[in-house]
Amino acid sequence: MSLWKIAPVVVVLGEKSVPVGRQIVNVLPGAKLYGLANRTLDVDVSFTNFGETLRELFVCGTPLIGICAAGILIRTLAPLLSDKRQEPPVLAVAENGSAVVPLLGGLNGVNDLARCIAEALGVKPAITTTGDVRFGIVLETPPPGYCLANPEQAKSFMSDLLAGATVRLDGNAPWLGSSALPIDPNGDLTIQITEREITPEPNCLVYHPATVVIGMSGTDGDQDETVALVRQTLADAELSPASVAGVFAMITASANPGIHAVKSAFGVPARFFCATDLEEFLSEGYTPAQAAALAAVGTSGQLILDQSSHVAIAISPQPIDPNTTGQPRGRLAIIGTGPGGSQWMSPEVKEILNSATDLVGYKTYLDLVGHLGKGKQRHESDNREEVARAMIALDLAAEGRSVAVVSSGDPGIYAMAAAIFEVLDRCAKPEWNYIDIQVAPGISAMQAAAAAIGAPLGHDFCAISLSDILKPWSIIEQRITTAAQGDFVIAFYNPVSKERTWQLAQARDILLRWRDPKTPVVLARNLGRPGQTVQAIALDQLVPEAADMRTVILVGSTQTRTIQRGDGGVWVYTPRGYS
Ligand code: SAH
Repeated sequence: MSLWKIAPVVVVLGEKSVPVGRQIVNVLPGAKLYGLANRTLDVDVSFTNFGETLRELFVCGTPLIGICAAGILIRTLAPLLSDKRQEPPVLAVAENGSAVVPLLGGLNGVNDLARCIAEALGVKPAITTTGDVRFGIVLETPPPGYCLANPEQAKSFMSDLLAGATVRLDGNAPWLGSSALPIDPNGDLTIQITEREITPEPNCLVYHPATVVIGMSGTDGDQDETVALVRQTLADAELSPASVAGVFAMITASANPGIHAVKSAFGVPARFFCATDLEEFLSEGYTPAQAAALAAVGTSGQLILDQSSHVAIAISPQPIDPNTTGQPRGRLAIIGTGPGGSQWMSPEVKEILNSATDLVGYKTYLDLVGHLGKGKQRHESDNREEVARAMIALDLAAEGRSVAVVSSGDPGIYAMAAAIFEVLDRCAKPEWNYIDIQVAPGISAMQAAAAAIGAPLGHDFCAISLSDILKPWSIIEQRITTAAQGDFVIAFYNPVSKERTWQLAQARDILLRWRDPKTPVVLARNLGRPGQTVQAIALDQLVPEAADMRTVILVGSTQTRTIQRGDGGVWVYTPRGYS
């Protein structure tokens, strides 16, 4: 179980720090190596402004490890220090890996992070927190699976312990038992570990273990009522909502809004079982909700009560790790990476790539995502295998994987989104019904081309693919004709390929019937990629040799104009009539 909701970032300022940075990244799941541009080469993310980058990450709650002097980190973050409960862990590590110094985030696990890094580097962490040094624990930050009910008591509790008080353990928590706390059955203080909803006594810290599971079946009812029903069921059983480990159900209910409302209300994962996992319980006469709850707690757990057929509660003797129990709802994100460089990739797409387990797509597009694709299962296919690719992606998602189907540009423009929906529509499998499907847009080639040369798409425009593989040429011809008659600016995708060269010449000849031979045409090749070229020519110069599969072509309307630039080039734009 990872301790940090947001993956840590290791920051290096020079190439010499990269080896130690890498060593640290390798032991922290999901961590990324950030390096100062021009000073570092082999990093995951390059940045130019150290202060701004660090402060932005800090504000987002990202655990930060700087391979640099502690003072640099302190001075950079000082203006932001206000609430120690909110601070993410911040550590300084010496360039040669000889010192690991936790600086901030004492209440958010900085010492654990320091220990983990120090172990990887073979050194002792410079832990300075008294309670941690003396007893080996931080009361405010229990390990995953436990939640402190009265954190406001923790400080005075620790002061009493440091002053010599002893403590009685009431309940079961191995991490406390194995700590160096002065445990005594007749202790002055008490630590109680319980899933019961109780009002803590004075001199008592209460931890709620994540031992309670909610089993559900899908309901058609009002979501607020469903959440209220679950709250009431817990209250009737005198169980604390803080002990809820997760919501569990049959996979066929994984798209049910009621289940997701309960998951959000309690801030826990929703996890699912397939029919075979629940068979045993169902054959004994348990309801699907009860069966899911029992499957989650395992043989040593037990059902608490079942007042509604839709909700069942079970309790386990040990905390449950919901991330390893059952499977998540499958997720299929159809994403567009933009035409090339990562500066044209949306933050949403980067986030999806980060959390995906599997990437599906044409090899060239998977290569385009660079370091964001590291550590993911890649399912490469050839360019023309859209249907097979869509089926693979849907099947993987139905298994509970988090799948990203990668297209260049925008996924809805001559790309995978339509293929997925076509397959979903025409060859539906029941298990595909439960997948969480999302389309994340990207910058399309025509937008990148337009931006590179001015505003050729400034007035009404359309896009036409010149590929006659999936549609007959007669339709393409007709569309070009009507677009020309309608005086649209036209973006031609797939203008030529090795096997298809005559289409572009025909398209030009059709256009010349309606357009002046000198109409501006933009040829944009390899946008956002090495070897990018963008140039303006006249329509009568447009020949198939001027384009290839990596070119998008924008043909102006009768209104499209050019402006000479000081540097010898031209701007191309289509006026809307502002002036
Ligand atoms: N989904 C993509 C289009 C895929 S169709 C998008 O929205 O951009 C493939 C065609 O897109 C290519 O033949 C070319 O016409 C255009 N294209 C895609 N990427 C390009 C790039 N980086 N530079 C120029 N044209 C590109």
